[in-house]
Amino acid sequence: SIKGQDDVQYAFYDDDFRQRMLQEKLLEDQMKLALQHEEFIVYYQPKYGVTTENLVGAEALVRWRKADGSTVMPGKFIPLAEKNGFISYLDKYIFAEVCKKQKEWLEAGKQVVPISVNLSRRHLYNDSFIEEYAQMVEEAKVPAKYMQLELTESAIFENQEALCQIIDRLHSMGFSILMDDFGTGYSSLMMLKSIPIDVLKLDKSFVDDFDDPKGQKIITSVIELAQALHMEVTAEGVETKEQYEFLRKLGCNTIQGFYFAKPMPEEEFERLLIEGIG
Ligand code: C2E
Ligand code: MG
Ligand code: MG
Ligand code: MG
Repeated sequence: SIKGQDDVQYAFYDDDFRQRMLQEKLLEDQMKLALQHEEFIVYYQPKYGVTTENLVGAEALVRWRKADGSTVMPGKFIPLAEKNGFISYLDKYIFAEVCKKQKEWLEAGKQVVPISVNLSRRHLYNDSFIEEYAQMVEEAKVPAKYMQLELTESAIFENQEALCQIIDRLHSMGFSILMDDFGTGYSSLMMLKSIPIDVLKLDKSFVDDFDDPKGQKIITSVIELAQALHMEVTAEGVETKEQYEFLRKLGCNTIQGFYFAKPMPEEEFERLLIEGIG
């Protein structure tokens, strides 16, 4: 009967759902263990000044280096970590790891550059968030100007007024705030007026669209708008010389992309700190 078929479908769906729940639980448990076993490591992707082509900064990007030597990319575990709240622990851990490195590099007399760390919107509105991050830079004795925070537009969606207050406090502590993946989220252009962002990171999807005339106009307008509002612009995902040249002519400030450098392990990045700053 038709009713019977419905039951069967429902059972399938239910089974599927159960299966997914089990897999998520397994991954969650593995992530918790991985944190204890220090399997999460930081890769650094350099950022270059457009006019000088000097190394001017980097973004810290998490990688999961498993005991068997394989590497898991963030796309495979960040979404679940955001869903179950594990991301708060992970982001804090990555931030602390970068602080530790910056301290080490500063003490070794290297020319360090500001490093931006991604921040999930999950903990931004936690009461303890600001104190925890303040404590981490203080403990590492790293000036906050060497630590930057990347937020995505989804962070803004929730409560603009509260977010402005949080950013004001972060500013007063010395942190710069970067708007990540700009143009992919829900926020309106009005957001640029009300939220005190220091750097706008133009999303890769815009950069990819640069050979389309309309795409070019949009990139041009966004960069002009950001500059009129006294924000710096970093272009993400720049892969070709043509894209780079185009962005340079528009006065984009910094470039982050495979054209210059891919995310790299810390030892490799450390070598750039020695050689890379003129
Ligand atoms: P994101 O913050 O927008 O980081 C930039 C991503 O673009 C990185 O991917 C980087 O490898 C990639 N990318 C940069 N230049 C190019 C390019 O020229 N071509 C291409 N094809 N890709 C480029 P990755 O490392 O896989 O990270 C993906 C996302 O995972 C990040 O996007 C960020 O949203 C998230 N993520 C990574 N680490 C963390 C973390 O520690 N905490 C949080 N909350 N999220 C993180
Ligand atoms: Mg980012
Ligand atoms: Mg980004
Ligand atoms: Mg992006």
